[in-house]
Amino acid sequence: MNKQYDVVILGSGPAGYMAATYVARARLSVAVFQGYQAGGQLMLSTEIENFPGFDTGILGPELMERLEAQAERFGAELIPQDAIAVDFRSRTFVVQTDTDEYHARTVIIATGASARWLGLPNEQRLLGRGVSVCATCDGFFFREKDVVVVGGGDTAMEEALFLTRYARQVTIVHRRSTFRASPILVEKARQHPGIRFIVESEVIDVLGDDVVEGIYIRNMQTGTVSQLPVQGVFLAIGHHPNTDLFRGVLQLDEEGYILPVERTMTSIAGVFAAGDVADPYYRQAITAAADGARAAMDVRRWLEQQQIEKRDPVPETVGSVIEVTRMP
Ligand code: NAP
Repeated sequence: MNKQYDVVILGSGPAGYMAATYVARARLSVAVFQGYQAGGQLMLSTEIENFPGFDTGILGPELMERLEAQAERFGAELIPQDAIAVDFRSRTFVVQTDTDEYHARTVIIATGASARWLGLPNEQRLLGRGVSVCATCDGFFFREKDVVVVGGGDTAMEEALFLTRYARQVTIVHRRSTFRASPILVEKARQHPGIRFIVESEVIDVLGDDVVEGIYIRNMQTGTVSQLPVQGVFLAIGHHPNTDLFRGVLQLDEEGYILPVERTMTSIAGVFAAGDVADPYYRQAITAAADGARAAMDVRRWLEQQQIEKRDPVPETVGSVIEVTRMP
């Protein structure tokens, strides 16, 4: 099978679906590669209280269902597969899955970001046996257990608060004494009787044969190593962008985030980026969705411009690499 679209969107988080809704409404043909795990990071979150229009909050997976339905309603074709390779060298871009090849005039990359790991010796071995990167998904299994949450950002605070629904004791372990998390969340966690803090400390390994039985912690001031008996270890230490497919293809920053060149356009003309994959800073559902809308509008205008230039040709730009400067 060999299919051709005006726009191919890679990713099915808020950025991908919102981009799809905008381009589909602009009467452009669009396919969304949802990936085998459709919906992105919000599928792993609980209540979203700050998405506009949902004044009483909405569950992450329900929000994603609605965004998906919205894109589909306007004719976006949803493909529940991963893109495994891209070729942006020719005028028509090529996206490959395990089974098929798709051709597109433009591509919007909205592949998002994934959870980071600590890289501890026994972390992966005990994954799913007490080690988790998603309190929302796994919290239920820790009723009346003692757990730690590692990290000092908003995610760590939120996950700790969420885990108090189940766990007997939640301990936040953070490597510094100040927090990246917003003060309101830190305060909420501090005031919760089920949460305590161990700061200026790092987890150096997870203990347990078949399931997690504890962790080793090193105090970063004194160097003292101690053991903390817990049954759950939730990592909340941030994310990295899902840009493996684009290394050596697009301009990325030192952390691997896509560097936009002109508005949402990447270093290859006709290839655009939206959401967390190009945003190490805001990383919110609403900012990702807004980015998706911006990318879709940039795509539409770019395609219109190409049409004009086809009638009145100027030097070709598709597939050419543009000099990158970081946007302020
Ligand atoms: P983050 O803000 O990057 O925080 C990551 C935390 O993990 C930091 O405290 C960091 O410590 C720690 N960390 C990183 N690597 C570590 C390592 N190797 N060992 C130990 N600790 C490590 O990530 P996030 O909390 O996932 O938040 C990401 C973005 O989403 C933020 O913009 C946040 O505001 C947003 N967010 C918002 C909400 C909300 O508004 N309700 C909820 C969740 C997330 P240092 O501080 O020492 O670097």
